[in-house]
Amino acid sequence: MSPTSCYAAQSAKTPLAPFKVDRRELGSNDVKIAIEYGGVCHTDIHFARNEWGGTHYPVVPGHEIIGKITAVGKAVNNLKIGQRVGAGYMSGSCHECASCKAHLEQYCLKGFSTIFNSLSKDPGGFAFGGYSKNIVLDQNFVLIIPTGLNPASTAPLLCAGITTYSPLVHWGVKPGMTVGIIGLGGLGHMGVKLSHAMGAKTVMITTSKTKDQVHEIFKITGGIVYILPEIHSIQKVFGPEAARFSQRE
Ligand SMILES: [Zn+2]
Ligand SMILES: [Zn+2]
Repeated sequence: MSPTSCYAAQSAKTPLAPFKVDRRELGSNDVKIAIEYGGVCHTDIHFARNEWGGTHYPVVPGHEIIGKITAVGKAVNNLKIGQRVGAGYMSGSCHECASCKAHLEQYCLKGFSTIFNSLSKDPGGFAFGGYSKNIVLDQNFVLIIPTGLNPASTAPLLCAGITTYSPLVHWGVKPGMTVGIIGLGGLGHMGVKLSHAMGAKTVMITTSKTKDQVHEIFKITGGIVYILPEIHSIQKVFGPEAARFSQRE
């Protein structure tokens, strides 16, 4: 076991505070990472406050992490000590089912595990996340971060970034298309930047008149901002196709 300093919430009502947890001994497929940067995703806050239920305390959130590898297990072949890597929300799957064999681990038939608040091989049987000095993770859920990327601003790509990049790729966003993004939050601002970088005309749909960042970000992208009086009026502006969004609110 290897003790590491971290920030943990002990209950839904207590703020994150310094704590110590034990990481597991390095397995043959594991890498140990000295964490340098961690993004703050709202999921971390939801879990710390038990807003979705099911939080196992103490909880150490953190699922957008960047760091350097300090040790590798015997079966690790494409990751090296000293290399800068990242890890996101998923941390394990069975590696044997049809989904895993098709590299669709998010659909693992046995269920995937997550970097925190999940059963794990760590001491105590529960995973602690990335608001921590060190972490031990399965090499299959660790990504190589290209040199030249700013590691601090790369960390949020590991959850907010991929969450918005995935649908843009799914719908084949390219120049000549128009993309509407509802809400300029942690994910929304990523979506705006990615959509713009893919060459699409990007439309921000928001109910906030006071968000200076809305206008700041659109100075960069040259996109359009629609400010709606309330989200239900989206259908009046964008037609019946947008109805399903207003219904979900
Ligand atoms: Zn599986
Ligand atoms: Zn997240």
